[in-house]
Amino acid sequence: MTNKVAVVTGGGGILCGELAKTLAKNGAKVAVLDLKKEAADNLAAEINSAGGTAIGVAANVLDKEALEAAHREVLKELGPCEILINGAGGNHPKGTTSMEHFSPDQLDKADLTSFFDLDHEGVEFVFNLNFLGTLIPTQVFSKDMIGKDDCSIINISSMNAFTPLTKIPAYSGAKAAVSNFTQWLAVHFAKVGIRVNALAPGFFLTDQNRSLLTKEDGSMTERGNKIISQTPMGRYGKPEDLNSTLLWLCDPATSFVTGIVVPIDGGFSAYSGV
Ligand code: NAD
Repeated sequence: MTNKVAVVTGGGGILCGELAKTLAKNGAKVAVLDLKKEAADNLAAEINSAGGTAIGVAANVLDKEALEAAHREVLKELGPCEILINGAGGNHPKGTTSMEHFSPDQLDKADLTSFFDLDHEGVEFVFNLNFLGTLIPTQVFSKDMIGKDDCSIINISSMNAFTPLTKIPAYSGAKAAVSNFTQWLAVHFAKVGIRVNALAPGFFLTDQNRSLLTKEDGSMTERGNKIISQTPMGRYGKPEDLNSTLLWLCDPATSFVTGIVVPIDGGFSAYSGV
């Protein structure tokens, strides 16, 4: 990976920050791209002070002009993009039901969000961020990969793409779209040698799910307990659990591997619960 240029969207966040550091440790020059400029700059500074090469770049993955400006900055500072990690993503409370199952009494409760109350803008936000937020950066950065060897796009899917999780229909549908797009793009780019694969992390405690999975005192919510009991390895993932799969998928040794979505989930997706 020495001197390969990698762009990591959502690189200011927890999981993709770890992926950015891993790419840098393995010799890549990394553009940490995030909506939050400060988060991107902080991570780039951390990589640089550890002896790596990184720049922080601010851009919204839904804004093509901002991404094109980011692309010009990456070209000038680091060179053409050879590895793209589409990591920016997440859920929104307005695309989430309060209860796992519907019961008619929910219709009278103003403090509950039933299926019938789901907010279209919340659902749209989640679909846009996860799906278009993968497609648009790919349009902008993957043109650099045409005609080059050993270029990879890695999308970030999720467990809910295989089987939807309760309460989060928007996020589940949007990540299913990311997995589907991973396969579509792998086929589309197969003749030009750009490989497209995805990581499907299981449950990792990060800012976007902390309040769903843990209480203020740090103990687990009912949902958190349920997840651990359905995860055969009995724990949440640690960001570093993703590293070896990322490196494997970007390695030229996997040059015949494209269009796969790899679960990294402590066995969650293999377990029927019985
Ligand atoms: P995180 O919130 O720590 O990181 C997400 C980063 O994306 C943040 O730095 C945020 O500023 C950035 N971002 C958000 N919207 C953006 C936009 N429009 N443009 C540019 N950047 C934007 O979350 P995380 O848990 O590290 O998640 C990273 C990826 O992994 C996401 O795609 C998420 O859906 C996926 N994922 C997470 C889990 C988990 O358990 N945490 C499980 C499966 C998949």
